[in-house]
Amino acid sequence: ILAFATLTLAQAQPKKPSKPILSVEQRIEDLLKRMTLEEKVGQMNQYNGFWEVTGPAPSGGDAQRKYEHLKKGWVGSMLNVRGVDQVRAVQKIAIEETRLGIPLIIGFDLIHGYKTISPIPLAEAASWDMEAIKASAQMAADEASAAGITWTFGPNVDISRDARWGRVMEGAGEDPFLGSKIAMARVQGFQGETRDDLSKNNTIAACAKHFAGYGFVEAGKEYNTVDIGTATLYNTVLPPFEAAKKAGVRTFMNAFNLLNGIPATGNSFLQRDILKGKWQFDGFVITDWASIREMITHGYAKDGAAASKLAVEAGADMDMESHLYVAELVRLVQEGKVEQKWVDDAVRRILRVKFELGLFDDPYRYCDSKREKATIGSATQRAKALDMAKKSVVLLKNDKRLLPLKKEGQRIALIGPLAADKTSPLGSWRIAADDLSAVSVWEGMQKYTGNQLTYAEGAPLTMGKTTFVDELVFNTSDTRGFEKAIQVAKDADVVVMVLGEHGLQSGEARSRTSLDLPGVQQQLLEAIYAVNANIVLVLQNGRPLALPWAAEHIPAIVEAWHLGTESGNAIAQVLYGDYNPSGKLPMSFPRNVGQCPIYYNHFSTGRPTNSENNVFWSHYSDSENTPQWPFGFGLSYTTFAYGKPVLSKATYVQGEPVEVQVSITNTGNYAGSEVVQLYLHDHYARIARPVKELKGFQKVTLAPGETQTVKFSLTDAELGFYDTTGTYVVEPGTFSLFIGTDSEKGQEVRFELQ
Ligand code: BGC
Repeated sequence: ILAFATLTLAQAQPKKPSKPILSVEQRIEDLLKRMTLEEKVGQMNQYNGFWEVTGPAPSGGDAQRKYEHLKKGWVGSMLNVRGVDQVRAVQKIAIEETRLGIPLIIGFDLIHGYKTISPIPLAEAASWDMEAIKASAQMAADEASAAGITWTFGPNVDISRDARWGRVMEGAGEDPFLGSKIAMARVQGFQGETRDDLSKNNTIAACAKHFAGYGFVEAGKEYNTVDIGTATLYNTVLPPFEAAKKAGVRTFMNAFNLLNGIPATGNSFLQRDILKGKWQFDGFVITDWASIREMITHGYAKDGAAASKLAVEAGADMDMESHLYVAELVRLVQEGKVEQKWVDDAVRRILRVKFELGLFDDPYRYCDSKREKATIGSATQRAKALDMAKKSVVLLKNDKRLLPLKKEGQRIALIGPLAADKTSPLGSWRIAADDLSAVSVWEGMQKYTGNQLTYAEGAPLTMGKTTFVDELVFNTSDTRGFEKAIQVAKDADVVVMVLGEHGLQSGEARSRTSLDLPGVQQQLLEAIYAVNANIVLVLQNGRPLALPWAAEHIPAIVEAWHLGTESGNAIAQVLYGDYNPSGKLPMSFPRNVGQCPIYYNHFSTGRPTNSENNVFWSHYSDSENTPQWPFGFGLSYTTFAYGKPVLSKATYVQGEPVEVQVSITNTGNYAGSEVVQLYLHDHYARIARPVKELKGFQKVTLAPGETQTVKFSLTDAELGFYDTTGTYVVEPGTFSLFIGTDSEKGQEVRFELQ
């Protein structure tokens, strides 16, 4: 209360609807003038939630130290505090017990939902449906904001081409164009469309992460080195970040990795020159967890003081859990070793976002217990999660027309370690969902009562606890369940097998060196196939898998990822044809792990195809070059026929839109949606261009027999590229466009740009 009384006119503005008398910038300056150096550095400090705040105050150790800091105003933000009661309790300390009563900003990883869990982000990317993806982020924001959370550490916009990296599940896949569109959709879903929307109580600040290059860790090994050239940095890594900035994202998170020898956290080229310079970003940068401290182990900083100086000068505004800014910065500034202007710059940015969120007008605006009760896990939330889950499924193979399953008269055997699993479909990063469980495939299929349904686990996927990485044991060799599974398979017309990775087998610190089915699942699959070849394989996984045997032998394959809370319902609706799958792969699926990194928008070598015998000179002696399933691939229960693409002209002058159209017809018996994809190839340029680059896509829904014309218009934004200095250029020359159903099958048309 006392702290409230000390607020000046600048902060104690009348509540809405009347507009504050002073602008946000004036309020920031007013407050900054009254802050001590300690209080400023406090704003730059973020602590992980450290005690059950509704319980007794912590005594002793780290928790007590953090608690004391909080009371002194040396904490600007906390993460992993959740629930209205908890948030209110920490906020109350910041407001009532500190000198200036500056509210905390409360962060949380909503990677794919709060308690109602949506599909993993990679799965959502497979929908190629920007409205759905935006709605999913909105759903997460709605729920988390009802639990007192103000800010999320998402979206993850890291482009990655290497399925060995566990965090591909968090991103949007391998392509910067698709990744940029998704980045924008997610930012707008979390924050709203304009900056003013941020002050609504169901929007939260978003965070584009990890800036930058993290998706390119060498050999897909977590936390590893990143060494990439400027062409890749500017054309592949940075575009989704810039798109997030353009969509108004209010925070960025830097990264653990070295980028070409310099840690991202201490990288002023990234944070000062590009982000805050060239892109004019005026929000703030949070470090990744303890990443300032990691600069010491990287061999870049001598000690904590040096690391703090390097980080703050490079533009890292808020320290997540390194505990270094709070320990070092005051002294460094007092001794003249760090200029005060860097601290002021960081604090201005942090305060700006807090003002925009409306936290100074009402610090408890996110603390509404009634809304918390009504929103979290509600039927409306679950309906949204189900919609997103269905849209994320990709049909990879349907040879014998086993799918959709008949609704009556079939004997179906459901087999596999993931078939009845209720935890695994939640995937990695579902921190708040521990008390909830997903609908399993077994439960989802039981809702269709016209068939005889039997179940056998076949083999366990995990042994021991599955809550922490060191306790995970996935490679079980237990085949005791095979016999029963073989028996139920023998007695069935169709076998649905649910295999893949456990939900905690991808995500942070979950890199793998093989992309096969873990444990004895491959053995189980082959054993079942030997007695009943009518198998529908439902895959649940957080990354592309390499399944050459299944691709060859199994007639029907459905990629169902980790679909979240409504997983089993979504899968059952797809299997029974109540939803016609329309997803397309956002990452190439390799034939074998040795092909990684594999991606469609690669360059042409100097020795490509030999046209006479179709031999690729640049090749492996033991594998084909092509992926098992390419980027953009996905089937439907219906079929689509593409007409020949038609350009509006053969030659264009720069600045003129390149217009192209194509007709598409639903030639099958089901209504269905198709993602029409447009790829560009620039035949020669000052930097060689990839063989194909996605530059447009549209999802259309067609009734059986219906034809639609899809039009694309390409402007400079699609026709150019970044050169090695980071300058965007559009060059005249010859271009090809490929329009079609995936990244391999497009029909080509050519044009000249003058
Ligand atoms: C991850 C971030 C995450 C942070 C906070 C880190 O380990 O790399 O993506 O936001 O933890 O949970």
